[in-house]
Amino acid sequence: MSKIIGIDLGTTNSCVGIMEDGRLLIIPNDEGFRTTPSVVAFTKEGSILVGNAAKRQQIMNPENTVFSIKRFMGRKYTDKEVANDIKLIPYKLQPADNGDVRVEVLGRIYSPPEISAMVLMKLKKDSENYLHEPVEKAVITVPAYFNDSQRQATKDAGKIAGLEVVRIINEPTAAALSSDFDSKNKMKIVIYDLGGGTFDVSILKLGKGIFEVMSTSGDTHLGGDDFDQAIIDYLIDDFYKQEHIDLRNDRVALQRLKDAAEKAKINLSTLDSVEITLQFIAVGKDGPKHLQTILTRDQLEHITKDIAERTAGPCEKALDAANLKPSEIDEVVLVGGQTKMPLVRNVVQRIFRKEPYLGLNPDEAVAAGAAKQASVLKGDIRDILLLDVTAFSLGLKTEGGIFSKIIDKNSSIPTRKSDMYTNTIDNQSFVRIEVYQGEKPMAADNKMIGTFDLMGIPPGKAGTAKISVMFDIDANGIIKVSAKDEATGKEQAIKITPDSGLSGSEVDKMKKDIGEEFSKKMSANEKLKAPQDYREEKSKGAEGLPGELDSRKKASIFDIFKKKER
Ligand code: AMP
Repeated sequence: MSKIIGIDLGTTNSCVGIMEDGRLLIIPNDEGFRTTPSVVAFTKEGSILVGNAAKRQQIMNPENTVFSIKRFMGRKYTDKEVANDIKLIPYKLQPADNGDVRVEVLGRIYSPPEISAMVLMKLKKDSENYLHEPVEKAVITVPAYFNDSQRQATKDAGKIAGLEVVRIINEPTAAALSSDFDSKNKMKIVIYDLGGGTFDVSILKLGKGIFEVMSTSGDTHLGGDDFDQAIIDYLIDDFYKQEHIDLRNDRVALQRLKDAAEKAKINLSTLDSVEITLQFIAVGKDGPKHLQTILTRDQLEHITKDIAERTAGPCEKALDAANLKPSEIDEVVLVGGQTKMPLVRNVVQRIFRKEPYLGLNPDEAVAAGAAKQASVLKGDIRDILLLDVTAFSLGLKTEGGIFSKIIDKNSSIPTRKSDMYTNTIDNQSFVRIEVYQGEKPMAADNKMIGTFDLMGIPPGKAGTAKISVMFDIDANGIIKVSAKDEATGKEQAIKITPDSGLSGSEVDKMKKDIGEEFSKKMSANEKLKAPQDYREEKSKGAEGLPGELDSRKKASIFDIFKKKER
């Protein structure tokens, strides 16, 4: 069987691991580094750079250097989080026909999975060069709090990159897998994972090879980038006070500030103060201006305390969901680059009333766990069992807009559950089923993740149809929903209308246009040629809906569907 690599596809950095002869190996990139920046740059000369090469030229080419693309995976352009992030990035975003986010660089349009695929292709190529054999399969990690669209988008990225994604696993679960805690006595651990863009916390029960996730919580928009932004805001305000020049409108200055802010933050994890100098940052009436200031660790902690404190809420939720008190936790394990900040460690210690465990490498633990899971899937490791959970409740919108839960949050996966529904109007010939995830009682307050229509219900009085709706969550956390009209006993054809994401044919087209050409170019040279134009296929959305449904769509369609009392 061909090799399976484990990939931590991070917001800021990515890392690849593999188990070889029972030993874990972190695969270095072509420059010898064990992590690779998740950055893709498009140069005016028509080349594409990925990783360190892209990061190095970021300051000079900010508008065409795409970073933190993970924040936009599987997202709608109108999502609140996207609106916030647009302010933080110098490259251009725009909505796709189906409302997804698209990136525009040098007049070309890319979906977030395509950009992620370019990072994956670099990781794949570097792994192949290192291992001296083709790599076609991978386990890829995602934040536990990634929803279905975000997981699907990650799988699509793998496919575009020419990788079969044999399993998607949650980052904190992967980190736990990389530890050797399971060989010890039974214990309960917390994985506190604060990376560049996301925060995840999971509580696991371990023992004798079993890794059982008890609960998970987090925030997909909280990470090191937010700490950097707080420093940038502080520097901009300080500069404005002195020079009356607002640097917020200057994209190159902003990129230089971001670079300086992150460096200062990292250095202040070990030093008490740092000097920040940015020569020629602006031009005033009386000539060029320089930014020069001292930032102390105390000041940094003062301006970022609230951000670190935002991790407390998800930690408390995870404890509640697992029905545990902090005193019942045996170890709190830190993962993610941002946990190297002393302030973050203090916040963790306050929340869990215990010194955090520092035995795992926060940059590599997730990739290491993914590699271990790959080895389990290959059958090389047999004595490990991973029992993960779903981070959200799942259900349907029913009569009056009420959210009818089918699968509860923190249920073990894989899982399969069904419930029975009925019509509320006489002679209703179809139902439109809207699938939501979230915890609020009204469907509209949760996130809609897909719709489909069940057609051809035989004529009958209200309340007579028996429609069984089945939810199936696989081990990747990816959801399938199906429905059956029990009254006729026949399987009904259902029409899935993806609410977001790429269709199968779009992914295939991208793989062809970008994947294959890139792979060839990458093997020859680290500098990649720009791919062919990617023209979006028309969204499949309403195409092919029967006329009957089209004309009735305007009616209050959800009043014709309610939970059936058994
Ligand atoms: P990750 O996504 O796990 O690679 O984490 C990346 C984040 O960790 C970035 O925001 C980095 O700036 C941050 N980071 C890395 N090293 C340190 C450090 N020594 N102190 C504070 N933050 C760090």
